[in-house]
Amino acid sequence: METWDLIIVGAGAAGLAAGIYGARSGLKTLILDERMAGGTTAEAPLVENYPGFPQIAGTELADKMTLHCKKTGAVIHDVESVVSMSLGDEKKTVKTSRGEYETTAIIIATGAHYNEIGVKGEKEFHGRGVSYCAVCDGPFFKGKRTLVVGGGNSACITTLYLSGIAEDVTLVHRREKFRAEEALVKDALSKANVKVMRNTEIQEIKGDKIVKSVVLLDLKTKETTELPFDAVFVQVGESPNSTQALEAGVEPEEGGCALKIDIRQHTNIPGVFAAGDVTNHPVRQVGTAVGQGITAALEAFNYIRRPYYRK
Ligand SMILES: Cc1cc2nc3c(=O)[nH]c(=O)nc-3n(C[C@H](O)[C@H](O)[C@H](O)COP(=O)(O)OP(=O)(O)OC[C@H]3O[C@@H](n4cnc5c(N)ncnc54)[C@H](O)[C@@H]3O)c2cc1C
Repeated sequence: METWDLIIVGAGAAGLAAGIYGARSGLKTLILDERMAGGTTAEAPLVENYPGFPQIAGTELADKMTLHCKKTGAVIHDVESVVSMSLGDEKKTVKTSRGEYETTAIIIATGAHYNEIGVKGEKEFHGRGVSYCAVCDGPFFKGKRTLVVGGGNSACITTLYLSGIAEDVTLVHRREKFRAEEALVKDALSKANVKVMRNTEIQEIKGDKIVKSVVLLDLKTKETTELPFDAVFVQVGESPNSTQALEAGVEPEEGGCALKIDIRQHTNIPGVFAAGDVTNHPVRQVGTAVGQGITAALEAFNYIRRPYYRK
């Protein structure tokens, strides 16, 4: 079985940043990813908020990070998924679709995926008006007509955020009552350019090259209407890719399945760290994933090379 100092699961922004710091610290570092390295950053059509790059295509930023990581000597195995892990002992083992590895420390950086609403047009217009992240894409819709779908805190926060950018924001919720905190709902709905449509469901997102309109169904009257919009922000939750880590005993946040970390990216298991969107960190951005990856790698270094540190 191959032995490594540090294995990183996931070659997104967090995993690649961790790889750079791990390899540069002299750790024999392996990064495993079930897809091609680069992670979710590669899915962002345009990134305008990563310092040093005022405007860069997500694919280009992901490629630059991957190249940089490889240059430091970290080994990246693309298209090799981690299927299970055994994390309780001093030496940890990782089983993948291709083999089995042993490691002293491990960083889980498997990211998260946004939940979809599953309507016609959602996939087709993803990145062309359909978005899952207002902080990422909101500024592209300055002065435009936007729609937010959802009934929880993130839908209300997104509505508030967009109300300062867009011409108007319509918040569509399929129930009468919001799940979000009362104060947040009140705040969002108090904005002059925010409208709310309760008991309403999206049926279809329409357009040509970009989003042009949305077909809405009033669940009470059963009437459908087609209204013009430039953007649809889907805010119906996010799911961390944490299944294997949870099965291996990593503790989740209370009431959820994001991995619980402390300020130094430690999980509940010694030698097991987590970074990026898979964790319960409140912000999910490239910059925060990078920062967490760096901290995790430096903490892993301390764990591996400074045994007194473990006490
Ligand atoms: C469309 C879109 C636009 C965005 N725009 C911006 C933006 O403009 N600015 C910004 O800052 N942020 C943006 N974001 C958010 C940002 O991309 C993420 O917050 C960030 O990439 C998270 O990095 P990560 O390393 O934690 O996870 P990811 O980048 O998702 O990487 C996780 C990696 O783990 C791999 N993986 C998962 N499970 C396994 C397994 N079992 N075995 C092996 N590998 C596994 C995945 O294949 C993936 O490559 C955007 C997100 C999306 C979806």
